Amino acid sequence: MTNASEYAKKVQENIHQGNSHETEFLQAIDEFVPTIIPFLENHPEYQEKNILSLVTEPERVIQFRVPWMDDQGDWQVNRGYRIQFNSALGPYKGGLRFHPSVNLSVLKFLAFEQIFKNALTGLPIGGGKGGSDFDPKGKSDGEVMRFCQSFMTELAKYIGPNTDIPAGDIGVGKREIGYMFGMYKRIKQYDAGVMTGKPLEFWGSQGRKEATGYGAVYFAKHLLADLGETLENKKAIVSGSGNVAIYCIEKLYQLGATPVTCSDSNGFIYDEAGIDLELLKELKEVHRERLTEYIKARPSAQYVEGSVWNLDVEVEVAFPCATQNEIQIDSAKRLVKNGVRIVAEGANMPSSLEAADYFVASGVYYCPGKAANAGGVAVSALEMSQNSQRLQWETEEVDQKLDGIMKHIYETCRDTAIAHDAKDNFMLGANIAGFAKVAQAMAIQGLV
Ligand code: NDP
Repeated sequence: MTNASEYAKKVQENIHQGNSHETEFLQAIDEFVPTIIPFLENHPEYQEKNILSLVTEPERVIQFRVPWMDDQGDWQVNRGYRIQFNSALGPYKGGLRFHPSVNLSVLKFLAFEQIFKNALTGLPIGGGKGGSDFDPKGKSDGEVMRFCQSFMTELAKYIGPNTDIPAGDIGVGKREIGYMFGMYKRIKQYDAGVMTGKPLEFWGSQGRKEATGYGAVYFAKHLLADLGETLENKKAIVSGSGNVAIYCIEKLYQLGATPVTCSDSNGFIYDEAGIDLELLKELKEVHRERLTEYIKARPSAQYVEGSVWNLDVEVEVAFPCATQNEIQIDSAKRLVKNGVRIVAEGANMPSSLEAADYFVASGVYYCPGKAANAGGVAVSALEMSQNSQRLQWETEEVDQKLDGIMKHIYETCRDTAIAHDAKDNFMLGANIAGFAKVAQAMAIQGLV
């Protein structure tokens, strides 16, 4: 048998050859594979069964046409996808993203990360992801509804409460979930558990919309507790102004920190006194406005075009909560120069590979998305439990469970890193701990 390192390299090369145009997927693979070599060295049985090749190949990729009519009566078409990547630990679970940048590569990277994220939660869910290159921005409610209905007409053939349970992601919030759920119900039957992130009015979970942002902050809280510190009086950079960013900012305030930024794809707000959360919610959640409106209501703040990661201010903690590859190496260097100690990723793969490696090499506590943002899917799994029980738990109960799950994930990453002589390397800890669970289940289930 070749040694673990050669085996992993060979598998990695094969993946590159077979998916050469899928840049984001390859980036996720290149981050993942080298970190699990120490584990493979101790577990030749998984190399014998070639589990690494199996786990990096999706079980099923579904692609379909989504025709819909715009408000002018013109016929439009978008592309829809669902990646059912791995069901070793349970039914496929992962969000739907509606954004013009969506393609197979982006969804495969997201679905791949989702497998290990879901494993880390300790809950019985496999990994999947889906979406469309449809852009809900600037569309009327009617257009969004017609698109969602058409999308679900096709997707409904492949999902179900015990098969594949989609949720939201970029561009998919409670409005889109509502329209898709309505169509699923019309085609199939009323299955509350077929989607999560549902509005509270029909069997959504308390605390789900807050869960990803809150969870990322809880991860940082537990890390700081280990260092004998709290978030009290710490200044934070947050990117994004969507679902994850808003509730990250809310929890930071609750724990005594001061989030001074938020952003969208055009620019960012720098509010030295701290982001006005109520104003941000009003603009984004009620009126779907751009951030340029923020400074009209709050002239003391600054609006700057471009990436928030160009901002040159001293901060201790950073929460990237927008999108993949928003932090490139230059921004990583700037953050380190400005004293950042913790980077906790609310978004998926917001740091480029080079940036992530730089954080780790610089002694920054780098908390990768698949661990730090797992709170969202964890509460989605709790929503599934509630739907099965025909019950809706109280907010406090869900929030307590979320905090406990994030503590468990943090400790798992920490302890797994230590056990592999890589103290504080949470990327390695998360990858090995997630892979170990999935590989074990796959090996037991045989060659399927
Ligand atoms: P939303 O659609 O609610 O918000 C996305 C935010 O990111 C918006 O402010 C958006 O700005 C910004 N953004 C999107 N694309 C870009 C870009 N190319 N450059 C700069 N900014 C951009 O999505 P979510 O908050 O739900 O998701 C944010 C991240 O968190 C994603 O990486 C997602 O995968 C991840 N995540 C989400 C979970 C959830 O529960 N929702 C769970 C786990 C991870 P604009 O309005 O200009 O597009």
